[in-house]
Amino acid sequence: MKILVTGGCGFIGSHLVERLLKEGHQVRIVDDLSTGSLDNISGFIKHPRLELIIDTILNEPLVDELVRRSDFVYHLAAVVGVRRVLENPIESILVNMEGTNNILKRCSRWQRRLLLTSTSEIYGKNENVPFTEDADIVIGTTTKRRWSYACTKALDEFLSLAYAEEKNLPVIIVRLFNTVGPRQSPHYGMVLPRFVKQALSGQPLTVFGDGRQTRCFLHVEDALSAMEKLRQQEKAYGGVFNVGTQEEITIADLAALVKEMTASPSEIVFVAPEKVYPRGFEDMQRRVPDISRLTALTGFTPVRTIRDIVADTIAYFTQSQNNG
Ligand code: UDP
Repeated sequence: MKILVTGGCGFIGSHLVERLLKEGHQVRIVDDLSTGSLDNISGFIKHPRLELIIDTILNEPLVDELVRRSDFVYHLAAVVGVRRVLENPIESILVNMEGTNNILKRCSRWQRRLLLTSTSEIYGKNENVPFTEDADIVIGTTTKRRWSYACTKALDEFLSLAYAEEKNLPVIIVRLFNTVGPRQSPHYGMVLPRFVKQALSGQPLTVFGDGRQTRCFLHVEDALSAMEKLRQQEKAYGGVFNVGTQEEITIADLAALVKEMTASPSEIVFVAPEKVYPRGFEDMQRRVPDISRLTALTGFTPVRTIRDIVADTIAYFTQSQNNG
C-alpha cells in the first residue's frame, strides 16, 4: 500500500514508518521538523520505498496532492508536549486545527481512509478513572494555556466524526495515553525521557509537585500494534478508541525506578511546577484508560511492562550518549 504519515519524523511517527517499511509498504512522510528530527529516521532515511517531504500540513495544495497519491493516511502531525504547547500557544492551536482540517478535507475529497491520533489530554480534569471513550471532557479555563491543546484535539475529533457521518469519511480516532520509548525527546516536557536523561547525566530527577500524581505509560511499539490492529478492522472506522495500558504508576515511583535501573547517584527532588513552567500549567492527578473497547474489537493487550519501557529508554539514551 501507499501510505502517507504526517509527522513521520516524530517520536511515534518514526517508529510507525520503520514498521510500515518492514511490512513492505511504500511510505511518504510529510513533516516540518518542528518537533520531529532527521535523527529519528536516520536508520532508514535512504530506504528505496521511503519518500520524505519536509513541509507543513498547513500547505493545502501539497496536502491535496499527497493524499491523492496515497491509499491510507496516518495523521500524527501535531504540536506535542506540555512544554511546547505552553511556550507556543498560537502555533499549537493553528497546526492542530487548520492542519487537521486540511487533512480531513482532502481525505474526504479523495475518499481515503485515515487514522487520526488524538490524546488522553482531552479527558482533562475528569477524576472518574478509568476513562471510557464516552467519558466527559472536563477542561479548565481559557487563561490556563494547557487546555488549549485538549480543546483543539477535541475539535479535531468533532470534525472527524462530522466528516464520517456527513461525508462517509472512513476515519479511525485513536486517543493515545502517555506513550513512551526510544527516540522520545526530553525537550518538550515529557517525564520519562527527562528522568532518564537526568539520571544518566548525574543531574537531580525533578518530580513536579508531590509526585503522587499517576500515569499509565505505554511502550510505543505496543501503541503501534494497537493502531495497526484497528486499521485492519472494518468496524473500527467511524469509531473512537483509547490506546493505552492500565498499569498505573506514581511519578515519584517512576523517578525511583529510573534511579534504580540506571544505578544513578542522582537525588530525586520535588519541585513546584510553577517554578519550571510558564503561566498556564495545571496538572491532573490520575490518568488511566479503559481499553475494553479496543480489546473487544481487536484482541489487543499491551505486552511490555513499565520495567521493559524504562529499560528500552535507558538503552536508547545510553547509545545516543555513546554516539556523541
Ligand atoms: N513531570 C515531572 N517532572 C518532569 C516532567 C513531568 O514530575 O520533569 C510530571 C508532570 O507534572 C506530570 C507527569 O510527570 O504529572 C507526566 O508528565 P508528561 O508531561 O510526561 O505527560 P502528561 O502530563 O501530558 O501526562
